[in-house]
Amino acid sequence: MIITADYHTHTNYSHGKGTPEENVLAAIEKGLRRIAISEHAGAHLFYGVRGGRLLRLRREVDALAKRYANEIEVLFGLECNLIAAGRCDAPRPGADIPQGADLAPFDVLLLGYHKGVWPADRVTRGAFAESFGIGHADPVKVAQALLETAAQYRIHMLSHPCEYVQADIPTLARGAAELGILLEINASHVSMSCAQLREAAACGASFVIGSDAHTPDRVGDFAKAIRAAEEAGVTQRIVNASCGLETP
Ligand SMILES: [Zn+2]
Ligand SMILES: [Zn+2]
Repeated sequence: MIITADYHTHTNYSHGKGTPEENVLAAIEKGLRRIAISEHAGAHLFYGVRGGRLLRLRREVDALAKRYANEIEVLFGLECNLIAAGRCDAPRPGADIPQGADLAPFDVLLLGYHKGVWPADRVTRGAFAESFGIGHADPVKVAQALLETAAQYRIHMLSHPCEYVQADIPTLARGAAELGILLEINASHVSMSCAQLREAAACGASFVIGSDAHTPDRVGDFAKAIRAAEEAGVTQRIVNASCGLETP
């Protein structure tokens, strides 16, 4: 199975090690057709890219898209953080970014739960506790919170579902299928078990494989995710695979 696009890569704008251009060059080297620079959004206390810095990244990614247009499609993405049910940190013009700055539209929006984000309601407080091993969140409510938020902010994919906090798979997978949102099989940390991947596929979910690279050499490194998808028998439901839902 060949993966044709990497929609999930980080850079030295957050806690990654390479520049956006180094990620793009690595993607070209690996023969990818598309790469997204998808940094952590602003609510992440340690790694969030916000304000003028996010704007600078936008300009840099736009310049790279032009410079390498003949070799690869370069997209501007953002990995947003679940803050509460129905709330994430996808930037709103005038609120999170300098007034008048035209940041939108993002090409790719990811949404995930991360523990470096201050929880703002019961469900994310539960998730916070679960991520530190000191409590549990209701997995159905976690799934509903992700879906409600994803719908409101027009999110394209859920990054590493069930990492840090469990989400009820039938609820998440059916809802994602209904909304047309992809579930990521994350190659850095495969977050769904074989049984969960199978169940999600049976409930109609479609998947996207992402590297979640934090260094340029890991861009386009999908080995762990491919293995998990093959083991679970869900390769036909992967949108960025040569044998999957999207023609390469
Ligand atoms: Zn993440
Ligand atoms: Zn990430």
